Amino acid sequence: MWNNTEVLNEIRQYLPKKLMGICKDCIMKNNCLASCIAMNYYRHQDLFAPHWYCEEALKAGLFPETSIVPGSESEDYMKKYNAIKKGDRDLYF
Ligand code: SF4
Repeated sequence: MWNNTEVLNEIRQYLPKKLMGICKDCIMKNNCLASCIAMNYYRHQDLFAPHWYCEEALKAGLFPETSIVPGSESEDYMKKYNAIKKGDRDLYF
């Protein structure tokens, strides 16, 4: 049942392309699949919501930049975050 259920197979196949937030921009998304989509659904009522821990890490500027897809929204966020932290606020705002 777990391996051959049509809806579960569709979720596994399309999940990486539909993820949101940091999971959408993470280089590990095809393997990690947003960690636990049941927990993500419980927290956000959305199967494609990002995992809370990585989302919080991004907001705090702690998500590893080497794991972010170049040119993504999350990379842009990290650049702005680091510019503000360094006092280079005028570079981005
Ligand atoms: S951001 Fe975190 S939870 Fe999401 S795919 Fe990457 S490692 Fe997994």
